Amino acid sequence: MRKGDWKLIQELNRSIILNKIRLDGPISRIELAKGNRISPSTVAAAVQELIREGYVTEIGRGESSGGRKPILLRFAPDNHFLFAASISNTVIEVAQLNLEANILRKESAPVGTRQGEGVIELMLGMIDRFVTETGSLDACIGIAVTTPGVVNVEQGVVYYNSKLRLNDVPVKQLVESRYGIKTWVENDTNSLVLAERRFGSYSSFANLIYIMVGNGIGAGILVNDMILRGKLGGAGEFGHTSVNRSGIRCECGNVGCLENSVSWPAVHSRMMAAMASGRQTLIHDLTGGDISRIEPAVYKEALSREDRLAMDITEEIAEHLGAGIVNLVNLFNPGAIVLGGNVAQDNPILLHKVEEHISRYAMRILKDDLVVGQSSLGDDGKLIGAAAVVLQDLFQFSLT
Ligand SMILES: [Zn+2]
Repeated sequence: MRKGDWKLIQELNRSIILNKIRLDGPISRIELAKGNRISPSTVAAAVQELIREGYVTEIGRGESSGGRKPILLRFAPDNHFLFAASISNTVIEVAQLNLEANILRKESAPVGTRQGEGVIELMLGMIDRFVTETGSLDACIGIAVTTPGVVNVEQGVVYYNSKLRLNDVPVKQLVESRYGIKTWVENDTNSLVLAERRFGSYSSFANLIYIMVGNGIGAGILVNDMILRGKLGGAGEFGHTSVNRSGIRCECGNVGCLENSVSWPAVHSRMMAAMASGRQTLIHDLTGGDISRIEPAVYKEALSREDRLAMDITEEIAEHLGAGIVNLVNLFNPGAIVLGGNVAQDNPILLHKVEEHISRYAMRILKDDLVVGQSSLGDDGKLIGAAAVVLQDLFQFSLT
């Protein structure tokens, strides 16, 4: 065995041991060795290192099964931190999180009309403030940046995001050279599917699809616990799958893309058109007739009060989205489908209609035990998603 290989194995063992302590702690060294088929001496050496670096603490003695009572170990998530930056087409959020992906503080700023470099500058300015306020970065284990679009994770380059005009932007290099901290770049829905699996309610699903139904549409696809990326990192561009050959032209070059019929801008423009045509709807009352106040929350409020316009729009979304999801179910045979984003989150009527569609049209054997639910991560999902990307590296989840 070459020396480099041995070091890699040591690091992997260390990650496996750390994750085991996180999940099963308080736990003794003996139990760690038993459960992971790693030799007691390897466990002892790794634990020693983890204690010295502050990832693990000893918390006294547990029950003995004969002989001396063993010392118990516990994960210490607050001795280190990470920064997460989530770019979306409308807002940038930056947060500092502990190693359990709990948010310590956060900030957000609207993207406005910024594009290309302007978007990256806005994000760097926000991270600058966090870094200044934090002082020392000694306890910082990494920075994660997530964005919609096609991302090369090895090089940390955003290849393509049409709305923000990000083309071949070397984000990893820009952030690492600025702060000297290891940086990860990931597609936003990929980070979300990872977070639902590791920190959300979908921890038992190694075959999981997260579908973002918000300002854009995208999917993060987990197959046998691995993110499906494709050759360039472009897998999961679910919003640009064709649902209507006679539909409107899309900025991706196709016509009738799913995104143009189910995203928030699509819902928004249908509500505006209906209001302009004088159609009776609760949306008039909820916005006081001011079309600039049409927000996702207004649509969902009208829907919960069974407004006819909101119901009709939801019916249409469910039809198109449902058809797209049936294709995903039949292609990937997931154990669960998670819906998130500002159109689908807290929208039980839409969820129910989509479920009905899947139940009617997906292959029977593939839909029988399929779980369809909403995101479990709440409003901070994207930040927890970005944190999951850094923590994936620390814990090497897929090996444990
Ligand atoms: Zn398209």
